[in-house]
Amino acid sequence: MVDATHIYCANCRAIRPVEFERLLASEASLGTAARCVRCGWLALTMIGEARVYCDVCDEIRPALLHEYRPAGLLSGGLVRCAVCYASRARLYGTKVSAR
Ligand SMILES: [Zn+2]
Ligand SMILES: [Zn+2]
Repeated sequence: MVDATHIYCANCRAIRPVEFERLLASEASLGTAARCVRCGWLALTMIGEARVYCDVCDEIRPALLHEYRPAGLLSGGLVRCAVCYASRARLYGTKVSAR
């Protein structure tokens, strides 16, 4: 899911390019924030490759990635919390793969 190039931004209400920002530059395990390049809206915080911060559970949870309907040439992936199934973010990219 780190191969995503775009994300659905709820602030812009549009699919926007995404930027990934390590919360602590030297320590990848502390998490990566996925933000809208245009407005800086925080789409989700990933911890490692398979966990996300879920603000419904208020916990770090395993992530599920479901295939989502594509947008143009971009394939889509819906990131969900594996515990409460709240959807955390919609990611788009050329190489999004369900795993
Ligand atoms: Zn935005
Ligand atoms: Zn949850």
